[in-house]
Amino acid sequence: MSQIIRLHRSAPDKPPAGLPCNGCGVCCASEPCPLGILVSRKRKGACKALQWSEADSSYRCGLIVQPAQYLPRGLGWLSAAVSRIAYRYISAGSGCDSTLQIEQATERRLP
Ligand code: SF4
Ligand code: SF4
Repeated sequence: MSQIIRLHRSAPDKPPAGLPCNGCGVCCASEPCPLGILVSRKRKGACKALQWSEADSSYRCGLIVQPAQYLPRGLGWLSAAVSRIAYRYISAGSGCDSTLQIEQATERRLP
């Protein structure tokens, strides 16, 4: 099965599964994780919590870096807990767990 995903042109190449995560964004742009499903309210396509960091030239999980932005109004006090849960849930720091195969698209300009 193939799927087209759109990523920032400066995003790093996806590393092989098992190597350290470099924030390429491929996994989260492909489909949301279970936490991302709650936030995005969908099971397919890019997660709404996926954030591009210009400073780091890589993607970040919004539930970790800016959880309040994704919580319903009045639940901002849960931010720290949500960030901790997301961090643990996605096994941050334990390596890329995505086996998706990437094929670069050739750039096409509309006439
Ligand atoms: S887990 Fe893998 S695919 Fe997902 S952002 Fe990190 S390096 Fe990219
Ligand atoms: S890790 Fe964060 S950005 Fe990625 S799919 Fe899950 S909630 Fe979304």
